[in-house]
Amino acid sequence: MLRFPLEMTTRIAGYVAKKKLTKAERFPMVLMLEPLHACNLTCTGCGRIREYESTIKQKLTIQECLDAVDECGAPVVSICGGEPMIYPGIGELTAKILERKKVVYLCTNGMFIRKKIGEFKPSNRFFFNVHLDGMRKSHDLAVERDGVFDQAIDGIKVAKAAGHLVCTNSTVFTETDMGELDAMFGYLTELGVDGFMISPGYGYSAVQSKEIFMTRDDIRAKFRSAEAMFRKYRFSTSPVFLEFLQGKREMTCTAWGNPTRNIKGWKGPCYLITDIHHKSFDDLLNKTEWENYGPGKDPRCENCMVHSGFEASAALGVNGKLGDTLKMIKWQFV
Ligand code: SF4
Repeated sequence: MLRFPLEMTTRIAGYVAKKKLTKAERFPMVLMLEPLHACNLTCTGCGRIREYESTIKQKLTIQECLDAVDECGAPVVSICGGEPMIYPGIGELTAKILERKKVVYLCTNGMFIRKKIGEFKPSNRFFFNVHLDGMRKSHDLAVERDGVFDQAIDGIKVAKAAGHLVCTNSTVFTETDMGELDAMFGYLTELGVDGFMISPGYGYSAVQSKEIFMTRDDIRAKFRSAEAMFRKYRFSTSPVFLEFLQGKREMTCTAWGNPTRNIKGWKGPCYLITDIHHKSFDDLLNKTEWENYGPGKDPRCENCMVHSGFEASAALGVNGKLGDTLKMIKWQFV
């Protein structure tokens, strides 16, 4: 059984092959598209609603979003925010990005899926990507509101019943109980969830609760302790990226692989830290001094091991080792 839909895998593989043939040094893999930063929740670990407080009521138009998709050219578009399900025209935006043959992940807290499900048509290149940081008590605590877990689960059931692909994304913090996550992934597997993303939290300067974030050593210990869990379920985390998270290999940051476009422009250098908003994707790619970022180069990068910084490194073989290609091919099968 394939881990990802075949059309999705072949489109991404074809894109990477073309870029490698043209010897492109840096190229985008996943566009992080933030049509708005407004959200109905105030999650403890979220930097967006704090960093973008002054523009929280503003939105990109659908045309601006599509222009960003075309300008960047990444094969995967992750629509995030804020809560993108409260963006007016979210169904239309998603459909128009899918028309461009992209793979689309719609990152949501899941609370509006039931209300808006009629706006979406199933596709083997479209996933509802529901945020879940734990079972009911822990998740509701992380998102600072009771009842969110139950609504997210309801959203997952509604989406699956309507024939959609659904994955979840979970952030691991200091307090995260990996045993609880194991139970949660088991439960979600029973619900038919198609894949799981997992990433360590990052200490945004905009987030006040610094104690929830881990150091590199903490992250490695936490991910090593869950070795069996990673073998059990259908994770989207590649084996190479997982080895990095478990401290079995070093990796170079390839934040250029995950550019972010929001109301202020192209966020530089990365999804997490903001030094500037560029007017164009080209400026972000070519004017950023990428060699100045990453662990050991910028103190703000010291404890960063997030997928938006390092997953592309794994997928593109930036820190490749003998046997990685075989590992990555085997991983395509569940
Ligand atoms: S290491 Fe992390 S914080 Fe630093 S540039 Fe890369 S993705 Fe951004």
